[in-house]
Order: sequence, then structure tokens, then C-alpha cells
Amino acid sequence: MSLTKFIFPAMAALAISSCASKTDQATDAADFDYTVDRFADVEVLRYKVPDFENLTPQQRILVYYLTEAALTGRDILWDQNGKYNLAIRDLIENVYQNYDGDRDDADFKGLELYLKQIEFANGIHHHYSMDKFTPAFSRDFLMAQIEKLPADKKPENLEVILPVIFDPTVMSKRVNQAEGQDLILTSANNLYEGVNQAEVEAYYNARKDTTETEPISWGLNTRVVKENGQVKEQVYKAGGLYSEPITRIIDLLTKAQNYAENDTQKDVIGKLIEFYRTGDLKLFDAYSIAWVEDTDSQVDFINGFIESYGDPLGMTGAWESIVNFKNQEASHRTEVISGNAEWFENNSPVDPRFRKDKVKGVTAKVITAAILAGDSYPATPIGINLPNANWIRAAHGSKSVTLENITEAYDKAAQGNGFNEEFVIDKETSDLMDKYLFITDNLHTDLHECLGHASGRLLPGVDPDALKAHGSTLEEARADLFALYYLADPKLLELGLLDNPDAYKAEYYKYILNGLMTQLMRIEPGKDVEEAHMRNRQLIAAWAYENGKKDNVIEMVKKDGKTFIKINDYKKLRDLFGELLGEVQRIKSEGDYEAGRDLVETYAVKVDPNLHKEVLDRYAKLNIAPYKGFVNPVYTPVLDKDGNITDVTVSYTEDYLPQVLRYSRDYRTL
Ligand code: ZN
Repeated sequence: MSLTKFIFPAMAALAISSCASKTDQATDAADFDYTVDRFADVEVLRYKVPDFENLTPQQRILVYYLTEAALTGRDILWDQNGKYNLAIRDLIENVYQNYDGDRDDADFKGLELYLKQIEFANGIHHHYSMDKFTPAFSRDFLMAQIEKLPADKKPENLEVILPVIFDPTVMSKRVNQAEGQDLILTSANNLYEGVNQAEVEAYYNARKDTTETEPISWGLNTRVVKENGQVKEQVYKAGGLYSEPITRIIDLLTKAQNYAENDTQKDVIGKLIEFYRTGDLKLFDAYSIAWVEDTDSQVDFINGFIESYGDPLGMTGAWESIVNFKNQEASHRTEVISGNAEWFENNSPVDPRFRKDKVKGVTAKVITAAILAGDSYPATPIGINLPNANWIRAAHGSKSVTLENITEAYDKAAQGNGFNEEFVIDKETSDLMDKYLFITDNLHTDLHECLGHASGRLLPGVDPDALKAHGSTLEEARADLFALYYLADPKLLELGLLDNPDAYKAEYYKYILNGLMTQLMRIEPGKDVEEAHMRNRQLIAAWAYENGKKDNVIEMVKKDGKTFIKINDYKKLRDLFGELLGEVQRIKSEGDYEAGRDLVETYAVKVDPNLHKEVLDRYAKLNIAPYKGFVNPVYTPVLDKDGNITDVTVSYTEDYLPQVLRYSRDYRTL
């Protein structure tokens, strides 16, 4: 529900920060190579783990076992994303590694590209557009290479997987969100088998009890199938579905538990282990509560079935893990924001009936990511706000984090890429962005995660899933609008978070430019906007553009035949954000499905084909990858003469393909 996936990575051409840890990173940036690989629409970067050496050896060993538990779940996600993904990965990896022909051969290059793409997407569908990749190698080439494979490497079910690779009509989309279609039957993920949307909805409706004050997150850890005419769930747990990887994860978590920083953390890990053993979602809630209440430990992690974007009905969680530790200095910023949560809630432009009476324990911190895994690898969120269960958030608060070593890497890799010169209307705006976009972007993420998702409440009896397929888009819009509205508030200057009353304009300009124009570079010609975060951004920008027309708030102007965004009245734009926030919160609080659907269908989905083409053409000239992802550092245990682990070292030398091929070999569990 609430990962801030994929900031717009190409904007910032600067990284001036007042924070000391940043300055330190900046000075040694010159000898650190951030870019690792570039192919198709992707750039793979490397990130640093600053201050790993300042942890204690015990903390470093804890991090090590948690990173191993993270990498061990990799195949779960691959299988969730599509039932033939692992078989296809095996086949393509085997052919690639067995190949002894001309490496400049066009078919071989096409196969290598396909391999890089599926490794990046954890399957055969694009991680963001959800469309199936089109192989740039021939079927004949693949068949000839399969002939040369040793007998034990030849695929068994070739006649099944060949059309999955080559026929564009077979399993064409991983997650289909198109209104009016059967979203289960038309989605190629592996979360359902032999059931249609109506059957799944009937199945869950029979289970849901809207009077329950502590509702279970039904379907979070299950695959729904039909057996002997009965709809039933297969549970992900030790002894159930995905038993092998889950059993290994339990083993590694048990090892990690021995190095826990304190009893609270030991208990958190223990509760997660119990959940994995039983698959009991009540225990997952117990774990989530213990986790959100552990604010003292420096090392932290998520590991499990978390976000449900991969399910068109938003029920089943994709497996993911991120291990991290607190960045003490930068956390001051988010502590100030969450320390004032009550003030922000009470002053929001939302009907008081839909506000929270009391904002409970929004904890926020800036973290350093140590490993990205499952659904967070290689493409990763830059902010996390968990847990997702609304009742836990209301009763126990939520934990909100910003992954600053990741945003730092994005920023460094984007310097001097020519984006501002091409798309920003004038030097004044561009200069403001150079100066303030890094800090306002980080503040936007903080406000979105710490306060936006945590704000507001449902009226009694309103089903949290009432907005159905539009729920994710509207939830992201709510959090973004909260952040946008407050970025321009004098309160941020009063709190010392910004030092210039015009700083917010940098983020406003970027947001409108992105939502109306530049995010279109991620969409293929002729396609609609599909992904929830992108829909949210277009919804907000297009709504503000249309509703500001009478006051000429935002203009689209032509210069030398090119379209530019011109913002004439930033103050009125802020008022518009406030107005839309009030309406989106009302829709959520009342569960007004029709109004929510109308907002999304009117503003968030359709694309102007001429403007789309213009953006793609202008963007292509810059040769900037629309998507970014990361290779992980490598952690190596230090052993004493008896083979006991005494410490852990980190290195940053592994490249992209070697890393994913190693993961496939060392963490193969399914
Ligand atoms: Zn969010």
C-alpha cells in the first residue's frame, strides 16, 4: 500500500546538502563508480553503505544473517510473479553460460539483453509496465543452443515454455488493471490458479467481517486455487507452499536472533519465525505490532509478504526484504516532522470528521540500506511506511523510513545528464531546482511516509477495501497531496527544515512537470497509464491543471515547437493541492467508490498521444534510462580458526550479471 517506489530519478543535477554525512559522502564520490550497467530502459547503479564500519561486530553479524535471510527468499518472488519464470530463468542462464560462439552475434546479444531484463524484473514481465518482454533473439537460435546443452541442463517442459517466451498473446501482462475485464483471468501472475475474479471476490467476501475491529489481512500469504470445484487457499509457510525457502529463512532468522541488539528485537524476530512456521496471519499482526513498537534498535529489517501491487485485487503480498540501520544524523529531520505530527493533522485542509483525533506514534527515521531483496531488488523504493494493516496503524502507529544512501546514489548518478536544460522552462526555475530539489524531494518523501499515509481515518463501518482497484492510486494521491500541501507551509521554516520560503517551488515545478509530461517517457506509445504511483501523479497534476485554468495557475506553453510547463501562481497551486486533498480524504473516509473511480478515470489514465510522442522524442535524445536499480554490496564473514563468525566485511566490486547469476546459483530454493 505504501512504498514510495521509484522517485523520478533523472531530475536532480545537484547534491548540496546541509547535512554533514552528505558532505562526507560527496568528498569521496569521485573514486566511487555509481553506474554498473546500462541496457534497454534500465541503468543499474551501485550504492554505498556508509558507517557500516561504525557498527559493532555484533551488529555487523546480525546484519549479515539478516542479509542472508533476505537473499534466500529470492525464488519465492520469481515464482509469485509467474509460474514459468524459474524454468525460463534456468533455461536462459544455462544457454548463456554454455555459449561458446561469437559473442558479437546478434542473436546472442539479444539473448544477453533478455537475460538482463528478466533478472531485473524477477521474471518475464517488465517490473513497472507489467508487459511481457519481447525477445530480440530467434526461436531457431534458442533451439540450436538448447541442442548443445548437456543432458542434465536441457529443459523438460520446452513445448510449454516456448510460447510463454515467444508468443506475445500468451501471458502478456503480469498485472492487468483495466476496468471492466476479469482482472484475475487476464493477469499472468501466479497468485491464482483456475479461479475467476467473481469467485475470488465471493470467497473473500464470505470471510470478511466488517464489524471486526482487528481485521486480518486476508490473502496476504496465500495462493488461491480451485480444487474439486472448491475455492481454497494454499498457504505460504514451512510445510506449505514455498516450504523450502521459508524453512531456510527461519534457520537464518534463528541465527540472527542470537545476535539481536536487545530483548525487544529478539522478540520481534521470534514472532516473525512463528508466523513463517504457521502461516497464521494473526501472528503476522502480532509480529507487525512488535516490530512497529521496536524503535530503539539501530539495525532493522523487513522480511515477508508485504506489498500487494502485484495482485490486481491487492490481496496477496509480494515477498521482499530490506535490511538497514539507522542514520543517526539525518534522522533528526524526520524526528522533527514526526514530533509535530499532531500539529500537521490538526491543521490539514481536511474535514475534521475525517481527521485522526489523536495521531499515534508516527515514528520516522532515515536509514542506510544494507541489502535489497525480493520485490525490492534491483528496483527499490526510496521510502517505506509499514505496517499496511489500517487498524494496526491506528492503534499502534507506523514506522516510516527514508533510504538516504539510495536517494544519494540516484542523485549522484543523475548529475549533469541534461534533463533540466531540455525540460525546465527557464534558468530561474532550473537554478531553484539545482539548489532545493534534493532537500525538498527528501522532505516530500518524509512527509508522504511519516504523515501522509498515517493521517486521516475511515468513518465507522467503512470497508478499508471499498475503493477496490483504485485504492492504491487514491492512497498514494492522499499521501502525496499531504506532502505537497505542507511543503509550502511556513511551519517548515519555523521548524528549521527549510531556509527559503520559495524552496517548495522547486518540488512543485518538478511534480507538475513530471505528472503532466516527463513521466510519460516510461510508457510505450499507445498505452495508458497503469501503475498506481504514476496514476496518482498524473491525477494530481492533471486535476490541478484543469481546475486551475480559470485562474491561469498552470500553463502549457510552446517555445521553439517544444512544450513547457509554466506555473504562474504557486500560492493558488498550493490551495488546489489542499482542495484535492480534502476530497480524496473524503472519498477514502466514506469509501465513496464511484467518486474515486471517476477521479481516476477522468484524470489519471488517458494520455495525450501528441504530447506523449514529443516527450519520448525529446527524452530519447538525452539517453537517460527511465528506470534505475541497484546491485548489492557483498558481505563476507570473518571466521576464526574454529570456523566461528567473528566479524563481517563489506565490498562493492561485484557487477550486475555476475551478481544475479551468483544469486541464482547460491540461493536456489525452488
Ligand atoms: Zn506511498
